[in-house]
Amino acid sequence: MRSEMDVYVPRTLDEALQQKSAHPDAISLAGGTDVMVEINFGRLRPAGIIDLTRIPELREWRREDSHLFLGAGVTYSRIVRELADFVPLVQASRSVGSPQIRNRGTVGGNLGTASPAGDALPVLAAYDAEVVLQNRRGTRSLPWHTFLQGPKKTAMAPDELIRGTRWQVVNGPGSFSKIGTRNAMVIAVAGLCLQVDQDARQVRVALGSVGPTILRAPEAERFIAERLTWDDPGAPVTDEVVAEFAELVGRAAKPIDDVRGTARYRVHGCTVLAGRALRWALEERKAFKWL
Ligand SMILES: Cc1cc2nc3c(=O)[nH]c(=O)nc-3n(C[C@H](O)[C@H](O)[C@H](O)COP(=O)(O)OP(=O)(O)OC[C@H]3O[C@@H](n4cnc5c(N)ncnc54)[C@H](O)[C@@H]3O)c2cc1C
Repeated sequence: MRSEMDVYVPRTLDEALQQKSAHPDAISLAGGTDVMVEINFGRLRPAGIIDLTRIPELREWRREDSHLFLGAGVTYSRIVRELADFVPLVQASRSVGSPQIRNRGTVGGNLGTASPAGDALPVLAAYDAEVVLQNRRGTRSLPWHTFLQGPKKTAMAPDELIRGTRWQVVNGPGSFSKIGTRNAMVIAVAGLCLQVDQDARQVRVALGSVGPTILRAPEAERFIAERLTWDDPGAPVTDEVVAEFAELVGRAAKPIDDVRGTARYRVHGCTVLAGRALRWALEERKAFKWL
């Protein structure tokens, strides 16, 4: 095991990209809430660390016409404070760890770790977000499902950084909820984001912690899109339709048994979360008359 580790502290994005290109085996560090756990437990001993925390470009978010761009280094605490319009993202951010973790942890780090239990990831999947990657030669954008390749596996090249994530701002209600063994400081046993897209006439549902990576529930999405009266948000939706939607969401889950829960419990969890999320969205649609 190496005893020495080089630490690079770039002040600009250009400098960071140069260092990543020169030292592709050095690990990027944002909040460090995943990286430092791995190092402290002796599971990771990178050749070097590139500390990204001093790079202003990574800490920006901005509206770009009809899209939102969220820099990789925006923390969960800032999302809660500054991005109130993005309700599911705020709900997911608020559920991450403790205040200390939310003050340090970033969505870029959640993407970089690519855990199926990463709480921001079902939200990005339900937003149909893309991940913006950059190296010295330029940038490229990948759909979330191309970027996330499997448990802790991404399409990022060794000389690339995550610049941020970008999605079309959606008109419609949405929510994020998760099941765990307690209400705070918990890794999700199952997590779900539901986002209604009133303009595209879609209901998008993404699941976390119930498969090797984040999953969408396409059959359930099609089923409910065909049953909503899109021109009349107040039109009733029967309990049977909600129950069948929830059942279809449960069927989209591909969980395993592990220390946190059995596969059966996780499927049931998805069913319960889906039914609740759909009811909340229907109530909100009625109240706001989203059209
Ligand atoms: C006590 C505790 C509780 C937690 N609770 C939760 C929880 O409830 N929900 C949850 O989802 N997570 C939780 N986590 C995990 C962690 O906080 C999140 O995954 C967080 O989003 C990681 O962000 P970070 O900025 O700290 O990432 P880091 O640890 O700095 O990095 C994580 C990974 O992303 C890479 N990376 C980071 N930024 C970039 C970039 N710009 N370009 C390229 N690669 C990059 C790093 O190289 C590394 O591989 C918890 C962690 C702890 C210690």
